[in-house]
Amino acid sequence: MSEMKDLSNQLRTLEEQLVSCMKCGMCQSVCPVFEQTHKEADVARGKLVLLESLMNDIFDNPDGVNKRLNKCLLCGSCAANCPSGVKVTDIFIKARAIITGYLKLSFIKKIIFRKMLAQPKVFDWIIHMGAKLQKFVLTPSNDHTQTASLKILSPLLNHRSIVPAADIPFQKSIDQLMAKAKPTGPRVAFFSGCLIDKIFPRVGIATVKVLLHHNFQVIIPRNQGCCGIPALAAGDTLTFLSLVKYNLDLFPVEKFDYLVTACATCTSTLKKLWPSMVQNQTPGLEKQVSLLAEKTLDISQFLSSVAGLELQSESSETPKIVTYHDPCHLAKSLGVRKEPRDVIHASSGYTLKEMADPDRCCGMGGSFNLYHYDLSSKIGKIKKENIEATGCHTIATSCPACMMHISDMLSKGSSHIDIKHPIELYAQGIK
Ligand code: SF4
Ligand code: SF4
Repeated sequence: MSEMKDLSNQLRTLEEQLVSCMKCGMCQSVCPVFEQTHKEADVARGKLVLLESLMNDIFDNPDGVNKRLNKCLLCGSCAANCPSGVKVTDIFIKARAIITGYLKLSFIKKIIFRKMLAQPKVFDWIIHMGAKLQKFVLTPSNDHTQTASLKILSPLLNHRSIVPAADIPFQKSIDQLMAKAKPTGPRVAFFSGCLIDKIFPRVGIATVKVLLHHNFQVIIPRNQGCCGIPALAAGDTLTFLSLVKYNLDLFPVEKFDYLVTACATCTSTLKKLWPSMVQNQTPGLEKQVSLLAEKTLDISQFLSSVAGLELQSESSETPKIVTYHDPCHLAKSLGVRKEPRDVIHASSGYTLKEMADPDRCCGMGGSFNLYHYDLSSKIGKIKKENIEATGCHTIATSCPACMMHISDMLSKGSSHIDIKHPIELYAQGIK
């Protein structure tokens, strides 16, 4: 009983934000989950009411509220369209942490987050071994999306096409990439993020190639850790904070002028969630995180606003049609919409054709995709149809997680659409 009181007191730290919701219900019209389920408990308003009820001791089912809270993509569509400016995803992230603290993290999540994700060298080794062994359990399913399906059945991965781990992670390519470079410009640190390092090293390679071409001194610390979002989204603040501190040690803010990422989720996490989640930590940590957040930019923002995009010479071939998907963490969280399109416009050999609702969530949502795959697929199918309706040759997006889910969606059927990051299109034109 006293523990429930304690939980309710902790939720009171969110009271001011919770009561700012005026229950207008406008979030219903933009929530991709509600669009599929039509259940009030799946939309922001319903979840906020559940949290308020738990805070006010109206009912005592933290497990039930937690399940509802986790049935959410954290896409931020509700927050971006809320007339009262309710910081919905911030509330959900903090509430997940509070309720998980009360319910305790499951044994399996403790192993995954605290023994693997929080130990970057161990995590790297596990993925490295997985990459070596994956040929025994995967069958290629689609050349264009470079996906594969599992030969054996697994309750979590069944029916999906996955993008396999790269044979050589990005960090193993760094020495070769930097070997002949003698840039003299400002210092740019590159935060690769797990998905670029382990699944899409080609995106990291393209980013570094472009930065060096623009004469920036590129700093890439080895053994970088995860930005922490998977742990934080699961309510594990301990792992999240340990990863923040680990990465801060690798990226001392005084050693670089800018920090660049090519992952929308990493950018949004470093710029918004790191500062929000270290508020009650030490003033020194808060200061460091705030300085790092100020220096952090998505690669397209960096090229548009700092480096200056070079308009590449026209290709003699007919331009290929490319359409762009706005990742929620870039468009809705940070308002970055124009810059990735500027990068595409500057790339030779492509012409941009917008799809319907380019900022509609693709349905990935991190662990949402694992636990609610049917819903995730239904949301992703709408994105797939919008992409295919453009008749495009290539779909570009600035988030490796979106790249993975869109690959899965497109591989169902006979799609011949390539999936790229905008920086890859730009890098192709650099000799
Ligand atoms: S979260 Fe915003 S849009 Fe949704 S009901 Fe509350 S005030 Fe309205
Ligand atoms: S974050 Fe996205 S999925 Fe979650 S409630 Fe808001 S709109 Fe719906």
